[in-house]
Amino acid sequence: MRNVLILGSTGSIGKTTLDVLWRNRDSHHVWGLVANTDAALMFKQILTHDAQFAAMSDPQAGQDLARQVAEHGLPAEVLSGPQAAAELAAHPEADTVVAAIVGAAGLGATFAAAEAGKRVLLANKESLVCGGRLLLEAAARSGAVLLPIDSEHNAILQCMPPAGERGAVERIWLTASGGPFRGWSMEQLKTVRPEQACRHPNWRMGRKISVDSATMMNKGLELIEAHWLFGLPVERIEVLLHPQSIVHSMVQYRDGSLLAQLGEPDMRTPIACALDWPERLQSGGAAATPGDWVFNFATLDADAYPCFVLAREVAQKMGAAPAVLNAANEVAVAAFLDGALGFTDIAAVVAGTLEKLDLAEPASLEEVFYVDAQARSVAGELLVRYQR
Ligand code: NDP
Repeated sequence: MRNVLILGSTGSIGKTTLDVLWRNRDSHHVWGLVANTDAALMFKQILTHDAQFAAMSDPQAGQDLARQVAEHGLPAEVLSGPQAAAELAAHPEADTVVAAIVGAAGLGATFAAAEAGKRVLLANKESLVCGGRLLLEAAARSGAVLLPIDSEHNAILQCMPPAGERGAVERIWLTASGGPFRGWSMEQLKTVRPEQACRHPNWRMGRKISVDSATMMNKGLELIEAHWLFGLPVERIEVLLHPQSIVHSMVQYRDGSLLAQLGEPDMRTPIACALDWPERLQSGGAAATPGDWVFNFATLDADAYPCFVLAREVAQKMGAAPAVLNAANEVAVAAFLDGALGFTDIAAVVAGTLEKLDLAEPASLEEVFYVDAQARSVAGELLVRYQR
């Protein structure tokens, strides 16, 4: 029986993970749950899955949850406050940690899980983007195993040779749907509203990653994520437009072979894959139906996606730049979702922040937080210039 802790259980990945775990409750136990504000949903999750531990980062939500749990006489232990997630992630009883908190807010707990030698299922790509080298070093020291949930990286995991034979790999192909605004003109993009950006054609996701997919910042973050996970230089990681999201990514070998992983766009498949890798679980996801599939590929016109171009430049530079990019993007996306910033100004705020900051590569998690705070402050100042 694996004891699973879900960081971000009330979010899109968290809920989908619970769906997969419910189907596999004979081998996987929902040991603990972590979220931020949604105490009502957290209470239902504890009840349904009989979780032993629950934590809310927001202290008020933690108090609300503790009251509900006590009123119903549930045995679950409730923690609250900003340190609670990391405390549970390092708990000796948890052996698998699903890192699905959105944004840099997930760094502390993801690092705690890696430092404690857990099996870490990574949805929170921001941890690798902001502190990739440090996270890999922490995992190497503790023996933690990092397994990607992101569908593209999970596909690559499935197509990659064993670690000792990576020299046979020539190139990685990340596929990209192009988001909801593929082919739109700059004039059209200026009118984009938050609810349009959150309506991805192929995937149902949280609001932040939906906007990142629409700007293609997400693909840039994934480029950095792939570099750290699979150890290939950024120049050997290509992005290919594939509107149907059936081919989740590909690995090209030096003998000319191209290995791809295909499936319906359903996050239950990569989550199930990572949960028991290299074994396989039932996911509940739609079975692959190759006879029904019609799909195509196209070269990516990167200039149509300025956020992707910025992220690719940052990936070539590395150092502190990815953490700056990520923080500025989080600030800009939050402002866009609040209706305070135009869709096309997201890239302008990120570019402006990158121009203003030239910081040394962080040598510790504390230094990553310092870079993150500096970038948020600069991006916040820049917002005033663009705010509606
Ligand atoms: P959502 O916005 O749907 O969910 C975010 C989750 O994080 C919620 O449970 C939220 O809690 C929790 N959270 C936010 N801040 C904190 C905090 N400070 N402490 C504890 N919990 C916190 O996001 P997604 O599920 O879409 O994405 C999660 C991560 O997975 C992101 O990094 C994303 O890039 C990645 N990912 C997502 C995919 C998807 O299909 N959705 C695909 C691939 C990767 P609450 O609701 O209680 O406030």
